[in-house]
Amino acid sequence: MTAKILDGKALASRIRQSLKEKVDLRAAQGLKAPGLAVILVGHNPASEVYVRNKRNACKEVGFHSVSHNLSKETSEKELLSLIDELNRDSSVNGILVQLPLPGHIDENKVTESIFPEKDVDGFHPYNIGRLTLKMPLLRPCTPKGIMTLLNETGIDLIGKEAVIVGASNIVGRPAALELLMARCTVTVCHSKTGNLDAHLKRADIIVAAVGIPGFIRGEQIKEGAIIIDVGINRLESGKLAGDVDFDSASQRASWITPVPGGVGPMTVASLLENTLQAAELLDQKT
Ligand code: NAD
Repeated sequence: MTAKILDGKALASRIRQSLKEKVDLRAAQGLKAPGLAVILVGHNPASEVYVRNKRNACKEVGFHSVSHNLSKETSEKELLSLIDELNRDSSVNGILVQLPLPGHIDENKVTESIFPEKDVDGFHPYNIGRLTLKMPLLRPCTPKGIMTLLNETGIDLIGKEAVIVGASNIVGRPAALELLMARCTVTVCHSKTGNLDAHLKRADIIVAAVGIPGFIRGEQIKEGAIIIDVGINRLESGKLAGDVDFDSASQRASWITPVPGGVGPMTVASLLENTLQAAELLDQKT
């Protein structure tokens, strides 16, 4: 079997086009463009690229976007005070603090300080709790993007064996909640999982979010599996590689996401969708 490509780049571009049309419609109705505030603390080259992509995407769809580039010496108190200000700013519908933060800042405290209705990353315990209870509001962007990609295959997900490799708060765990909500049978594997191969071999869907280039190889997967590769790993050559060995896996999978051009652009598209959703929620309240 040679896998079909799940093209996140093309799908994300269609989503941005549709969002732009919705922003234009809002303008025609006299409604404000959704506003996103992006906070970056310090100089992490990967974070700078992600933040730039998010800002460019906002511009493309006509969102109002505000950037706060803070020095790495910024104290936790200063960051919390900026978030407090943005929480109260009615032109800001979404607040995004790019992770990771410098070690002297408590990430959990920062995440919890964002108003849940402006938490467009979907990381606040309130939004994670709602997802857990099958009543999602603002959904974590990468797992949401994964579900949009899976829906694009047209395959009925109900009852499928989904195996997630990686159990982080931002990808693995919320991806498990999403797949469970889609009524898959879900297994979450992590660094202490014994016999990973046995789990991978029976998976109809594999979500790889480990952070190790080429970690999953074609011979470990079932013929016809759907492979969602979340990994973004910078090789010494400067090239980007996923957590799945694309060449061998694409010989056995039915569908596979490329890296780059798979999950990455979908994460940004989901962020934009969440920001519009946050703006619509505010419109309903006022
Ligand atoms: P993380 O480091 O927080 O978590 C990695 C997970 O992998 C942990 O749960 C760990 O237990 C598990 N793991 C490590 N070694 C393992 C092993 N040998 N066997 C099984 N599990 C193992 O990483 P993260 O933030 O979830 O990111 C994972 C990857 O996804 C990274 O490459 C990151 O750059 C990428 N990422 C991509 C996007 C996107 O938009 N495409 C978004 C977030 C993260």
